[in-house]
Amino acid sequence: MDLSEILPIPNLLEARRVLAFSPHPDDNEVGAGATLAKLAGVGADLIWVVASDGGVGTESIESTPNGLVAIRRQEQERAATTLGAREVRWLGFKDTRLRDDPRLLEARVVATIRDLHPDLVMCPDPWLPYEAHPDHRALGHAVSTALLMTNFGLAYPEFGAPVKAPSIAYYGSAWPNTTIDVTETFDLKLKALMMHESQWPAPMDQQIQMYLTLKAVSLGEKIGVARAEAFKVLTQHHLHFNVDTWHA
Ligand SMILES: [Zn+2]
Repeated sequence: MDLSEILPIPNLLEARRVLAFSPHPDDNEVGAGATLAKLAGVGADLIWVVASDGGVGTESIESTPNGLVAIRRQEQERAATTLGAREVRWLGFKDTRLRDDPRLLEARVVATIRDLHPDLVMCPDPWLPYEAHPDHRALGHAVSTALLMTNFGLAYPEFGAPVKAPSIAYYGSAWPNTTIDVTETFDLKLKALMMHESQWPAPMDQQIQMYLTLKAVSLGEKIGVARAEAFKVLTQHHLHFNVDTWHA
């Protein structure tokens, strides 16, 4: 059975208001930076929604959490602006603690979607095999669950009026169904990513750029372009009681 005949996969590039949910400052850049820049280029309204403060993101025990949080906030604002974001919203959770209260995280996501009524949300794929980071799994699950709630006014009535559920594009997915030509914006992605200077001390700065470039080239080969990013794009209807979604 071809599920897409009954339940079509939305065209990611038709989105005109996008909320890009990021567990930490920098994840949107790694997973979707070039596609986000491409969407900005065709006039989409982009907002970064960063769930945690990134305060654990250092191997140096000398750096103070508060100092790092301030640095990462600046890095994120600069990188998002470079890729065309209108705004960066901070949900205010502590780094590594997104799993502490799943219902609160989900409520904050629902409230943000109802406030900004996007037609597309992005986030990490929480069903990525071997994804060990609890923040990535927690936020991916919260955004997915929120998609089943936003259009039901009796769910979270205290968090705004119901809105139509947006489509969702998971980045970092093992089963992508959408490949985007990002030949024009790939260099900008790397530039924005390197603005997260605190996260990429040498030699990691070179390693991550090499890895992302090789990945973009191999994805590009599949659709006959120089650079590409891949996503699993779904609707809310794929995300409940659907045994075919994993290969949709
Ligand atoms: Zn992360």
